[in-house]
Amino acid sequence: MPSPAPAYLWAMTASPHVSEPLSRIEKAPLERYVAPAKPSLVGMTRSELSAVLGEVGVPEAQRRMRVQQLWHWIYLRGVRAFDEMTSVSKDLRAALDRRFTLTRPEVAAEQVSVDGTRKWLLRLPGEHAGERAYEVECVYIPDAGRGTLCVSSQVGCTLNCSFCHTGTQRLVRNLTAGEIVGQILIARDRLGDWVGRSPSEREADATRLITNIVMMGMGEPLYNFEAVRDALLIAADGDGIGISKRKITLSTSGVVPNIVRAGAEIGVMLAVSLHAVRDELRDQLVPLNRKYPIRDLLAACREYPGLSNARRITFEYVMLKGINDSLADAKALVKLLKGIPAKINLIPFNPWPGSSYECSDWEQIEKFSEIIFNAGYASPVRTPRGRDILAACGQLKSATEKLSVRERMALRAMVMTE
Ligand code: SAH
Ligand code: SF4
Repeated sequence: MPSPAPAYLWAMTASPHVSEPLSRIEKAPLERYVAPAKPSLVGMTRSELSAVLGEVGVPEAQRRMRVQQLWHWIYLRGVRAFDEMTSVSKDLRAALDRRFTLTRPEVAAEQVSVDGTRKWLLRLPGEHAGERAYEVECVYIPDAGRGTLCVSSQVGCTLNCSFCHTGTQRLVRNLTAGEIVGQILIARDRLGDWVGRSPSEREADATRLITNIVMMGMGEPLYNFEAVRDALLIAADGDGIGISKRKITLSTSGVVPNIVRAGAEIGVMLAVSLHAVRDELRDQLVPLNRKYPIRDLLAACREYPGLSNARRITFEYVMLKGINDSLADAKALVKLLKGIPAKINLIPFNPWPGSSYECSDWEQIEKFSEIIFNAGYASPVRTPRGRDILAACGQLKSATEKLSVRERMALRAMVMTE
């Protein structure tokens, strides 16, 4: 039987809703990942680790216990060398070291914002030796009582939302599960956020810096389904990274069939980038809407498992001046979401050089949010964080396509004048 097509190819099959070339809705990822000769164990699932142990000659009967040990050292303690795995026999450590590594993606740059936000630029290998490396970003946002890590799922994005800077990036490559989990490991490395090495320090759990994960960085996570699923299940595993599914949110622009799969196979919290209440407008803002219109999207949301007040879906709505921010839109939004346990997250538009939109006026955002609030929804306005390091939503475009000096200056000027 042929193996199923990768999510992105499958997504490109014809759809009755689409009357124009699909290339305008989505680009195809251009490059594939080629594993290094000595692969990293970071990002491997329990069954993959078990296979690795088989390869280095560990008898079947011992593998479960050995997997548990590796899991503990890699995902709970965050060790970077096999030699640090003191409960693992010396022979096994040496055998693993000969064939594998514990490497994370390379950190090309780290920036710390005045508000404490940190951004890491990660360098990832391309397909061919000597080829220019790809770059992707990961952002840590500290807040009172919690710290959120915003993780990327692709270099660039195959979709072309008209207000999003990431969508303008031409080259797209899916990240591996290891590169996705690797972002969490790197953030813990850099923040010193690993569980202590001695048992008494394990209570330090209460003071962990990274408490939440959002798949809201570069890329559309549901177009890299398998890798995102494996990475998030690793992140949620209580014996390792241990961030519960309730504290992990996956944001999608609305890949309907994979929302259903995410409900069945991942089970984390869902955020949907809605941004418009009419298909005609959403078709322009989020071109994927031509394939999966609002009606189908909301039907998938209604079916999302475990929905309750405690497990509400977040609807993201970017505030674009004169485009989607009328009070009639706010009323229509409330009507549209009726019956779905929902939170509505209003995001002030973050401008970028060349973008043709403006952020709604503050008073308009307040009026809009009041209508939503009066209808019984919490409608926090997401405060843009880390603007001075370009880490805010939609500005996560890596240096793969470098901004010109002029663009950078224009961007800085915009940031400074806010
Ligand atoms: N691809 C996924 C997740 C990444 S984008 C998605 O689209 O949901 C994270 C959020 O930032 C999305 O809601 C997205 O619509 C929003 N966003 C993108 N560009 C933005 C911009 N310039 N200003 C404000 N929000 C933006
Ligand atoms: Fe991709 Fe999300 Fe940006 Fe749309 S908003 S282009 S789906 S990253």
